[in-house]
Amino acid sequence: MATLGRDLVVAICREALEAERRRILAGRAYAGDEALWADIAARLRAVVQPSLRPVINASGVILQTNLGRAPLSEATLDAMRRAGEGYSNLEYDLDAGERGSRYDHAEALLRRLTGAEAGLLVNNNAGAVLLALSALAQGREVIISRGQLVEIGGGFRIPEVMAQSGVRLVEVGTTNRTYTRDYQAAIGEETAALMRVHASNFRVIGFAHQPPLSELVALAHERGLLLIDDLGSGTLLDTAPYGLPHEPTVQESVATGADLVTFSGDKLLGGPQAGIIVGRADLIAQLRRHPLTRALRVDKTTIAGIQANLLHYVRGEATREIPIWRMMAATADEIAARAHALIAALGPVGARCTVVPGQAMIGGGSLPEESLPTALIAVAVDAPSDAARALRRGDPAVVARVQDDRLLLDLRTVLPREEPALATRLQEVLETP
Ligand SMILES: *Cc1c(COP(=O)(O)O)cnc(C)c1O
Repeated sequence: MATLGRDLVVAICREALEAERRRILAGRAYAGDEALWADIAARLRAVVQPSLRPVINASGVILQTNLGRAPLSEATLDAMRRAGEGYSNLEYDLDAGERGSRYDHAEALLRRLTGAEAGLLVNNNAGAVLLALSALAQGREVIISRGQLVEIGGGFRIPEVMAQSGVRLVEVGTTNRTYTRDYQAAIGEETAALMRVHASNFRVIGFAHQPPLSELVALAHERGLLLIDDLGSGTLLDTAPYGLPHEPTVQESVATGADLVTFSGDKLLGGPQAGIIVGRADLIAQLRRHPLTRALRVDKTTIAGIQANLLHYVRGEATREIPIWRMMAATADEIAARAHALIAALGPVGARCTVVPGQAMIGGGSLPEESLPTALIAVAVDAPSDAARALRRGDPAVVARVQDDRLLLDLRTVLPREEPALATRLQEVLETP
């Protein structure tokens, strides 16, 4: 435990006394000296501990924005640590001994992996979209389908981002059906680009239509316009071999002729938070020079992490090394075997647990409504919500699921090295009456 300065301790005691005074003024009886000391101790502990701490994700949602999206590979963590612990050639050309660019580091990898002429990293994909629109379409019109005016979550709404970029949004089609001819009819003097946005977190089923990207690219190029494709998650690997629908890959967008493609570093790519823009070299050069790029600049640890993560794809080891792809690749039988082993390690309270079939989700604005068959640990408890709360509040915190009045844990999203700690927490909660 740290030795705390007198001023801090005095301030914390005053805060605790003030809180107690307010409780008494509100009509409650004095909590007692012991409770007051416990409150002071808890406040002191809280103040010297970071509020951001590890959580064991037993929810079965692989990419959960609230839980920090993608856990990182060992190599990625090593690279980020090495970039952070000393100096680096971040903006320094070691051959020439002169100034270099931080944006050069990931570019060759992005070119190789996506087939694009050029690439650029920014803070996140929201920033990537904001930058692309601000730099290339400010003061002009961008045409987008009404079925793609999405809200991603966390307040990111495509129409608002377009407004913020100084772009006039031209909506075409209807919520469920938009045709290439709708875009065609909306093109005018002021049009700068056609934009496609991945409908990340919802799906229109039934009587629905969106034109294929190839038609939009052909139309845009015929009329001398840009085609900007916001892929959202963006993946470099096909999701079909995992029993999931095919999620459009970045390479496909580039090959189809999209002028710029934007996607996230920490969704299906499985790396640290970043926004990635790939596409035409002249456009990327224009983005690099834009003042917003400076404001959306990525840190050296991010560049190191993105690079290390991309290298997994170059080496053909992504599904082995990147945690989220390992989670996606695991079969229900493998998860069930881990679940049985964990239950066996629980001792007597293990008798209250069974393994049942269930569904895991991808999350992270990709493949909505799609799930992977998985095996869940179902725990018999009288009050599942109370047990879930107790799991969340302990150390390490555990996030489980409550469904149909049952407490459910999915080991698909639990890293194998977290299993002993998870077993301990489960025991603790189940042994507490
Ligand atoms: C997730 C998402 C974004 C935002 O990406 P961040 O990396 O979270 O900023 C933008 N567009 C689409 C389509 C998305 O799915």
